[in-house]
Amino acid sequence: MTLPPNVYDAEPIPETARAEIDRMLKSGDLFRYTAPENAPVTLLEREFAALMGSKYALAVSSCSAALFLSLKALDLPRDARVLIPGFTFAAVPSSVVHAECVPVLCEVGDNYRIDIQDFEAKLGDGISAVIISHMRGHTSDMDAVMTLCEARGIPVIEDAAHSLGTTWDGRNIGTIGTIGCFSFQSYKLVNAGEGGIMITDDPDLIARAVIMSGAYEHNWTKHLTAPDADLDRAFAKAQNMLPLYNLRLSNLSAAIIRPQLAEIPRRVADGRRNHDYVAEALNSSPWLDVPEKLAKEKRAPDSIQFNLVGLDADETLAFAEAAARRGVKVQIFGQSTDNARAFWNWRFIPGATPELPQTRAMLMKACDTRLPARLKPAELDLIASAIIDAVAEVMEPLRAYGT
Ligand SMILES: *Cc1c(COP(=O)(O)O)cnc(C)c1O
Repeated sequence: MTLPPNVYDAEPIPETARAEIDRMLKSGDLFRYTAPENAPVTLLEREFAALMGSKYALAVSSCSAALFLSLKALDLPRDARVLIPGFTFAAVPSSVVHAECVPVLCEVGDNYRIDIQDFEAKLGDGISAVIISHMRGHTSDMDAVMTLCEARGIPVIEDAAHSLGTTWDGRNIGTIGTIGCFSFQSYKLVNAGEGGIMITDDPDLIARAVIMSGAYEHNWTKHLTAPDADLDRAFAKAQNMLPLYNLRLSNLSAAIIRPQLAEIPRRVADGRRNHDYVAEALNSSPWLDVPEKLAKEKRAPDSIQFNLVGLDADETLAFAEAAARRGVKVQIFGQSTDNARAFWNWRFIPGATPELPQTRAMLMKACDTRLPARLKPAELDLIASAIIDAVAEVMEPLRAYGT
């Protein structure tokens, strides 16, 4: 019998990381600014920018740090209003609060994507910047988002922490807005334990972010990889003008990340195949619905989200228990007192908790199950049938267990 898979373990780090790590252990060369040039962190930035088709990249300690630095790089004044989705990870409103700005929440639909009508209505409410969170890799309508924001001159930060490898209309997620931010935390597509990176084509934004990330004195010169007059000017303008928050990445992390970049296409393809296979199975149940992706989106999932259809609160909890008994952990975003993706648990946001009835209704029925790219068909079958049988046990006791 196939046992329920452990969906929390990461993939092994490619063997090729070992030689570089050994070299560092011998030399002690762990700080990105020790070597005069070509430090592993700098090479990672160069490779990641090339991979994404961006001009500039800055690797930092986490995606949260990248989001925070993005807001600081935009030079937003204290108390500037930043529009974010009502369904995202708590790191997003946290980065806004950290940057001394005020998060404003907009509604999210049953398909986990930004409700463009509510987004447009709230954009008019004194918004200075937008963070689009491609939550669990679900891409909002970026054509509509960019049209609305560009018309108003509002910069867009893409939180692509969990979306590496996703494309929108053939373009890499994270390259559509003004700045894109990614995570290398262990539950994301590329795993360094911790780490993050931001990409942009704007020399002023990257120069400001580089200095604030901790490029003290003239260490920013070690970020220059090719002659770039615009970047030189931007650094000269920012020299000595900005605080240093020291959110740098270590060479050790870069050495763990770099060999994984080549693994991205395989992880994306396998993750998508696994997701679509399980989605088709779940959609065969009348009590489960995996929302369709948007037409221009190509997903890179490492988990699956689905909505319960027609279950009341007690049935919803009974379903989660029935799935757990079958060895599959299903998290229902809104059904615990501490879920970091339920907006009413973001009690650190200044002022009263906003009310978003549509997003709340979605969170009360939206389920989340990890589905790592490394799973095999038998394991996917086991996960899918555990979920389908669990909901049948709750909703069709006669059919499932009758004579
Ligand atoms: C993981 C995640 C983050 C935070 O990333 P860290 O690198 O852990 O700071 C932010 N947003 C989303 C959508 C995430 O999934």
